[in-house]
Amino acid sequence: TGETEEAEGIEREEKVQTRVTYTIVFVTAEAEPYSKTGGLGDVCGSLPKSLAARGHRVMVVSPRYLHGGLADEKFAGATDLDCQIKVYCFGGEQKVAFFHEYREGVDWVFVDHPSYHRPGNPYGDSHGAFGDNQFRFTLLCHAACEAPLVLLLGGYTYGEKCLFLANDWHAGLVPVLLASKYHPHGVYKDARSILVIHNLAHQGVEAAITYKNLGLPPEWYGALEWVFPTWARTHALDTGEAVNVLKGAIVTADRILTVSKGYAWEITTVEGGYGLHELLSSRRSVLNGITNGIDISEWNPSSDKHIASNYSEDDLSGKVQCKIALQKELGLPIKPDYPLIGFIGRLDYQKGIDLIRWATPELMEDDVQFVMLGSGDPLYEEWMRAAESTYKDKFRGWVGFNIQISHKITAGADILLMPSRFEPCGLNQLYAMRYGTVPVVHGTGGLRDTVQSFDPYAHEGLGEGTGWIFSPLSKESMLGALRVAIRTYRDHKSSWEGIMKRGMAKDYTWENAAVQYEQVFEWAFIDPP
Ligand code: ADP
Repeated sequence: TGETEEAEGIEREEKVQTRVTYTIVFVTAEAEPYSKTGGLGDVCGSLPKSLAARGHRVMVVSPRYLHGGLADEKFAGATDLDCQIKVYCFGGEQKVAFFHEYREGVDWVFVDHPSYHRPGNPYGDSHGAFGDNQFRFTLLCHAACEAPLVLLLGGYTYGEKCLFLANDWHAGLVPVLLASKYHPHGVYKDARSILVIHNLAHQGVEAAITYKNLGLPPEWYGALEWVFPTWARTHALDTGEAVNVLKGAIVTADRILTVSKGYAWEITTVEGGYGLHELLSSRRSVLNGITNGIDISEWNPSSDKHIASNYSEDDLSGKVQCKIALQKELGLPIKPDYPLIGFIGRLDYQKGIDLIRWATPELMEDDVQFVMLGSGDPLYEEWMRAAESTYKDKFRGWVGFNIQISHKITAGADILLMPSRFEPCGLNQLYAMRYGTVPVVHGTGGLRDTVQSFDPYAHEGLGEGTGWIFSPLSKESMLGALRVAIRTYRDHKSSWEGIMKRGMAKDYTWENAAVQYEQVFEWAFIDPP
């Protein structure tokens, strides 16, 4: 066996040595732990580390957000690279600087400019979205295109033969700049760009007059040109002319990726394409979907530092301790046998919050507890606060963004509810399954791809499935699925444990997804469109 092990070791070593490695530049509006409002931050915080661990050289470029509070500490480890560049856009010359931290094998690069220094989240504050987001993300894209050329990291620049991963519309100008500004001058000839769509609902659409501000050559207007349908125009002189940054990225990127296979299909349909379905269909030959992974150094019930008691597939006893601790912390009656339903997410129409709101009175008639964590639409924040006083013994609505509480709910709940209207991938159901918390989800996008509905009769009565998928998206079908889940929890303990354990055994690690990303990188270089 010694010899076999040695031979296997050599083979593994050779594989690593012969594997093609890439020079990769992520461009993103958010990256955990520096900045995160949702799944985009999770992905751009963990996929780079997995790719770096597999031997690639990886840089992540995002803004240096300073909010003037404790959260600024997150950027304390990043030092000034003493490299300023000038970006010509929005009628003037903007000076931006770069900060840098080398951590877990990745070059985290932060673009510094006064427009990133303000209270709020990366996109807005309690008054809504910032009015100058187009400007802020135009700066990010210009700076990100220069970064591989000008920044000396570990003694070397990244150079021109790199692979840009432009995430969502905020980074959408990157492929457009490569095509319009750099390629005509022979720069970045050997670079490739991949647009990664995490959410097609946000496209960076502005009045056409903005085009001249973006620092792009005038003759490339057509790439971003966008016309609103007549019903969306507001007055007689409104011609509907606009620019759409994401559209520009879709037409110029070498390849396009979404965060699940289901979503890659949905965005080519009228219902899921947000006006871009025809364009996306025309690019189907370069369009793929890869399901997001989860960062198991952050999300692992056997080592999670945020939760009351650690547990694993082999010993689930800690889970009920997490539930009791959650009930205690939230001032709910301590009822270890009550089914506890959780929800975590942005309070947004996308997440089906309206449905939860309509269903809550009926749900509260049952012997259950319901804990929600979320922030966003003030209407729903207000509703969550009101529901707390209406259903004192059964409902808690934590308004805010709190990572620690999100871990505690993921561990302490029995059921995680996700009635999303659309869901490009969805991470909470993946975290939930890992923690033995059973997802009840609407059948859409990544939710349909990752959750398998429970079937008690499969495998000669042993059962299969990791949760429940309901469809259509209605209050009745959601309540129906929840009631079946609740009944299974109460009356069929062994079935329930089977569902929990099958979910916990699923492999949604980044390691798995990173291999699929590598395949797409290879296609981008070998088979450019
Ligand atoms: P989206 O990107 O559409 O917001 P995802 O399910 O892909 O949805 O990712 C959401 C991520 O943001 C998860 O990591 C989730 O735990 C986190 N999250 C969302 N809302 C909150 C909140 N209020 N507090 C803490 N974490 C949150």
